[in-house]
Amino acid sequence: MAAIENTPQHHGEAPRKRVVVVGAGIAGLAAALRMHQQGWDVVVIERAQTRRSSGYLVNLHGPGYDAAERLGLVPALAPRDIGFFTSVLVHADGREKFAIPAAVAEAAVGARALSVFRGDLESALYDAVVGLVDIRFGTTVQAVDQHDGGVVVTLSDGTRMETELLIGADGVHSRVRELVFGPEHEYFVDLGHMVGAFPLHQVPEHVPEGAGTTFIGPGRTAAVMNLGPERSSTFFTYRCPDSNAELALGAAPSLTQAFGDLGGGVADALGQLEADPAAAYFDSVAQIVMDRWSHGRVVLLGDAAWCVTVFAGYGAALALDGADRLGTTLAAHGDDIPTALDTWETSLRPEVGKRQALARKGMSRFVPPSRAHVWAGELMLRAIALPGIQGLVRRAIQRANN
Ligand SMILES: Cc1cc2nc3c(=O)[nH]c(=O)nc-3n(C[C@H](O)[C@H](O)[C@H](O)COP(=O)(O)OP(=O)(O)OC[C@H]3O[C@@H](n4cnc5c(N)ncnc54)[C@H](O)[C@@H]3O)c2cc1C
Repeated sequence: MAAIENTPQHHGEAPRKRVVVVGAGIAGLAAALRMHQQGWDVVVIERAQTRRSSGYLVNLHGPGYDAAERLGLVPALAPRDIGFFTSVLVHADGREKFAIPAAVAEAAVGARALSVFRGDLESALYDAVVGLVDIRFGTTVQAVDQHDGGVVVTLSDGTRMETELLIGADGVHSRVRELVFGPEHEYFVDLGHMVGAFPLHQVPEHVPEGAGTTFIGPGRTAAVMNLGPERSSTFFTYRCPDSNAELALGAAPSLTQAFGDLGGGVADALGQLEADPAAAYFDSVAQIVMDRWSHGRVVLLGDAAWCVTVFAGYGAALALDGADRLGTTLAAHGDDIPTALDTWETSLRPEVGKRQALARKGMSRFVPPSRAHVWAGELMLRAIALPGIQGLVRRAIQRANN
C-alpha cells in the first residue's frame, strides 16, 4: 500500500489545513480559489488530461454576477463578455418571424451582467489559481475513507492523501457522490430532454451578424448565434423518451436526427458539428436532488450536489456563489468543519430549491410540449419586445433573483 501524502509544511509557517477538490470545472476551481484565499493548502484532482477551453454561453447576472465580483473575476471576464445581441425568431425553413432587439434584453437584465463562454469562465478561474494550488490532471479518486479528524483519499495513480476536507465538485455524474453518498440513480431526476451546445469554428451561414436565430417548435428548440469569429455558437434542446439511446448514438447523429430538417443556420451548424463532434456538450437534462450535501468532512458542490439544469440558466452562478460562501462559512467556524458545512448548506438550500423549481416550470418555455404552447410563448416574446414592457420584465427578473 502507498504511503500517505500529508500536507507539506514550510519552516516557520503556521500549519495549513489541506482540502482536496475533485473536479476542475467552475465549482472546483472557484472552491480552489476561495480556499486558497482562506490560507488552505489546496490539491485539485481532475479526470481530464487537459483543460477544456471552449463550450457554450453562460449568463451571469444577479447573485451570479455578485459572486464573480467577490471572487475577483470580473476584470478577467469583462473583456470576454459577448454582451447582448438581437434574437430573431424563425420559421422551420429559417425565414424570420420577428426580432427582439439587443436593447430589450439589456433593459430587462441591467448592466451588472456577463455573457461568457464556459471555457472563458473556467480560464479566468484557472489563471487565478495556477501556481498557487496543486492541480493534477488525468487523475481521479478511487476511494474515500473518513476517520476522526480527517479523510484519506486514494487516487487513481495510487497516491493516498490525508486531508481535512474533501470537496466533490465533479459534476452531475460525480464519483465522490457515488463513493460517499451512494449510487447515482438515488439522486438523478431525468427531466426527459437532451441538450446539445457547441462553438462554431466558422461564422454560421444564414444568420445575421450580431444576432442569434431561434427556432422554437413543439418538443424542440434550436438557436444559432453569429457573433463573429471565435464567438459564434449553438444551443439545441429537445424532448426525448430514452436519453441513454441518444447518448449511445452520439451528439452529431442525434442532433441531426432531431434538427436535420431545419433550414437557416441550423444546417450549416450541424455540418460543422460533424467535422468536430468532440467539441459538443451533449447530455440528458437531469437534476440532482439530495437531502444532504455533506457527510462528515466530505461535501458536494455545484452540479454534483444540486444540478439545476440548463433550464434554470443558473448552474455556473450557483457554483460560484456556493464556493464563495463555503470559504466564508468555513473561515467563520475554525476547526468545526461539520458545523460549518451544515451552516453553509442551510444558507444555500432556499436558493437551490427555488432554481430547481424554476427550471422544472421553465421547461415548457424552452421546449413547448404542443403547438398551442409554441403560440402562447411567441405571444409572450412579442409582448416583451413592445416598448414600455421592459420595466415589467426587469422587475420580474429581479424578483426571481431575490
Ligand atoms: C448549454 C448549457 C448552458 C448553460 N447556461 C448557463 C447560464 O447561462 N448560466 C449559468 O449560471 N449556468 C449555465 N449552465 C450550467 C453551468 O454550465 C453548470 O451548472 C456549471 O458549469 C457546473 O459546474 P460544475 O463545476 O459543478 O460541473 P462541471 O462543469 O461538470 O465540472 C466537473 C469537473 O469535474 C471533472 N470530473 C468529472 N468526474 C471526475 C472524476 N471522477 N474525477 C476527477 N474529475 C472529474 C470534469 O472533467 C469537470 O472538469 C449551462 C449549462 C449548459 C449545459
